[in-house]
Amino acid sequence: MIRLLIWLLMAYIGYRVVKALMAPKSSAPASPALESEETVQDPVCGMYVAKADAVVGRLNGERHYFCSMACLEKFSEQLDHTTPPH
Ligand SMILES: [Zn+2]
Repeated sequence: MIRLLIWLLMAYIGYRVVKALMAPKSSAPASPALESEETVQDPVCGMYVAKADAVVGRLNGERHYFCSMACLEKFSEQLDHTTPPH
């Protein structure tokens, strides 16, 4: 009887080992390259640009990302009109 239990335990461990060996291959991330390239949206024209290529503007203490300097200027102009003067 004890022998049978040992055999069952061995079979179970063998099954777990095989499953553990198979698992990493199926659950590996499909596209790791997509996560490293972060995109940001231009608030002026709505275009999506890579964070590395975007024009960064600091307006009102906040970071904003733009596709070009023209959009940054347009955005800062809009900001000047919307914010009331002190
Ligand atoms: Zn733009």
